[in-house]
Amino acid sequence: MANYKQDTLCVQAGYSPKTGEARIPPIVQSTTYVYEKTQDMADLFDLKSDGYFYTRLANPTVAAFEGKVAALEGGVCGIGCASGMSATALTIFTVAGAGDNILSSQAVYGGTYNLFSTTLPKLGIECRFFNPDAPKEEIEKLIDDKTKIIFTETIANPAIVVLDFDKIAAIAKKHNVLFAVDNTLSTPVLCRPKDFGANIVVHSSSKYLDGHAAALGGMIIDCGNFEFKGNSRYPAFNTPDESYHGLVYADLPVAFGTKCRAQMIRDYGAIMSPQNAFLSYIGCDTLALRMERHSSNAKKVAEYLSKHPKIEWVKHPSLKDNKYHKLAEKYLPNGQGGMMSFGIKGSVEMCAKFMEALKLITQETHVADVRSCVLHPASTTHRQLSEEDLVKAGVPHNLVRLSVGIENPEDIIADLKQALEKL
Ligand SMILES: *Cc1c(COP(=O)(O)O)cnc(C)c1O
Repeated sequence: MANYKQDTLCVQAGYSPKTGEARIPPIVQSTTYVYEKTQDMADLFDLKSDGYFYTRLANPTVAAFEGKVAALEGGVCGIGCASGMSATALTIFTVAGAGDNILSSQAVYGGTYNLFSTTLPKLGIECRFFNPDAPKEEIEKLIDDKTKIIFTETIANPAIVVLDFDKIAAIAKKHNVLFAVDNTLSTPVLCRPKDFGANIVVHSSSKYLDGHAAALGGMIIDCGNFEFKGNSRYPAFNTPDESYHGLVYADLPVAFGTKCRAQMIRDYGAIMSPQNAFLSYIGCDTLALRMERHSSNAKKVAEYLSKHPKIEWVKHPSLKDNKYHKLAEKYLPNGQGGMMSFGIKGSVEMCAKFMEALKLITQETHVADVRSCVLHPASTTHRQLSEEDLVKAGVPHNLVRLSVGIENPEDIIADLKQALEKL
């Protein structure tokens, strides 16, 4: 599949039926699998052969979706998780434990920010946040010999910061530290982090990959381009895992992915369900088409809003005067997705009045599906954050997050227009 283009992989990758088999991946709704020979099962447990023995570890329907996203991201292995949050958490747990630290962009999804700032420290893992716009030297200073991973987002939700891949990749390479990217809002159709130096890609497949707000899910992709062998930063990859018969992960062709599944999925159990994998798999068939439409719609909406007298500012990387327009031209040349944010001139109450006046566009704690929707982060997803942390996360009180769907752009703009007229 490797030579096909992204739009072909969206439709074809991950599952190839043999003669007489179902055209699309069947939902294998079974916890377990039958074997006749004891040795065959023992080999599976020893990771000596491929196959299924218990759905908490692997499932054929989940494997089809894993294969599709791995192909799209150019990775060597995909791991379907119960949600985007579990994908992020398990990525960290695969490499970091008590006494270690991680680096993270401070412009990340609200749930990720909470996980990193509150929950990880309780487990003894420190998170050192950095401003993604800071110079290289400033970010680099945060790294020490206990730093296990640098975590970022391609397009940060909801701050709409476009990642400077070259800058972070250079730091990661210099210090031999893993570089992970949450690629949820750009998807591999618009940007492939591996092409710009990322080693691990994380997704909330609940968003564009599924695309229809039907199935919660997450995905971890091992890009297969990081050398763990002999890297003193990662002793856990270079010493035998006693919980796996002395396996040394750095010796395997897929080191990160194997450790993640064999230890983390096994121990935390946050696997994707077969039903959700099925929905996400078929949702992904139209990903390339949808991203084209999301992007062109959002560009039109951003242009309209940026000229509106009741709007203070608009953030979408397609706008020429956007701070991240240059980075978007470099890393997201085929479209910047449907996510944008804008500031209403006025108070929190004005934001509420505007959102309640919308008719086609609905209020939801969701983004990145086919239907246009809005959210006011300061009073919902980012409610737990202090005033200071809100500013740090790039979420002022009057920010409205708009996820532009694939409806006709004239209808979306007409709805925004009539709601703004009510202010
Ligand atoms: C939604 C989202 C997540 C969390 O994913 P869930 O599937 O809701 O757990 C993580 N990162 C980004 C960028 C998101 O938008």
